[in-house]
Amino acid sequence: MRLCCPSTCPMEKKPKVSQLCELCHCRKAIVKRPKNLQKICKLCFYEVFETEIHNTIVSNNLFFEGERVAVGASGGKDSTVLAYVLKLLNERYHYGIDIVLLSIDEGIIGYRDDSLATVKRNKEQYQLPLEIVSYRELYNWTMDEIVSCAGLKNSCTYCGVFRRQALDRGAAKLGINHVVTGHNADDMAETVLMNLLRGDVARLEKSTSIMTSSVGSPIKRSKPFKYSYQKEIVLYAHYKKLDYFSTECSYAPEAFRGTARELMKNLESIRPSCIIDIIHSGENLVLKPKKVRKQFRKKDVTEVEVRSDGSVSLFKDGNRCERCGYLSSNRICKACTLLEGLEKNRAKLKIDTDTSTDGAAKTTRELEQLSF
Ligand code: SF4
Ligand SMILES: [Zn+2]
Ligand SMILES: [Zn+2]
Repeated sequence: MRLCCPSTCPMEKKPKVSQLCELCHCRKAIVKRPKNLQKICKLCFYEVFETEIHNTIVSNNLFFEGERVAVGASGGKDSTVLAYVLKLLNERYHYGIDIVLLSIDEGIIGYRDDSLATVKRNKEQYQLPLEIVSYRELYNWTMDEIVSCAGLKNSCTYCGVFRRQALDRGAAKLGINHVVTGHNADDMAETVLMNLLRGDVARLEKSTSIMTSSVGSPIKRSKPFKYSYQKEIVLYAHYKKLDYFSTECSYAPEAFRGTARELMKNLESIRPSCIIDIIHSGENLVLKPKKVRKQFRKKDVTEVEVRSDGSVSLFKDGNRCERCGYLSSNRICKACTLLEGLEKNRAKLKIDTDTSTDGAAKTTRELEQLSF
């Protein structure tokens, strides 16, 4: 005989054993972790998600006490979660770092203006200082103007080159030497696949590095979400009710990356661990050492680098672009080369970033710096 009302009886509400969290065994499992399909409760999800990022930070010695760190903040889910988690971990584990939000305004109406409004709200919500650097102020061009002048096809090539330099300049303006970005495990695995598929050995080697920097540049970049799945970042943002912007950029994303992403999603649906497995494979690839020989003829050049595509570059750490003063292994930096083309209204450089190995693709590889 039932002695109490079924709607109020605690026994009635107790979840079945099969629904219990596989970690704490006491709360109801509501999340199936995309990473390993483990069924866990919300609190355990927060705990494992945050702890994994903390372990990545500590095991790679990403920060030192007193370091000033700029979070590359776009207002999207990855960088919003990064700013939130980094602030939380900094307080919880006493990293002793000083966090600043650094945003780039590419000048894309209907996309970046709205996402920057999100970053401005994040600034208030997380009580973090914010610096915004715009393409207009640095290059006197907006992405909208570049696309109308040079077409849609190469928009991400221009944007990537300009953004990389803009982030460095923004960080330098703030006196900061470390920029952290929200690149996640999915992004990294996609990059490994892309470089593998197009035989870009030089980039393949660097594509799994958690920390990178340009030759001679004091500014380093790191990716604390290197092992964090995109789906888990979205889940975390959702459960924590974080304020982020989810609209895609109005300009076409890189076609080849889209194909690599689709391929990886198909693989992930069969084998969820494939994202991490691809990253581990990339990390363990051992490439033949590069041929580097001493150059004696020119006094001011220290080394000759023979690139994987056979081209040769003379460089010396700390070389600067003759026009803008930005670090460059060539006389004119990549951004200035692109700007020159734009200014002369002949920006229709034959750029084929996808499969070609001809001279145009070499030009593209030299122009692009999208590995951050
Ligand atoms: S999708 Fe391309 S154009 Fe748009 S913000 Fe990203 S890199 Fe720039
Ligand atoms: Zn639990
Ligand atoms: Zn320059």
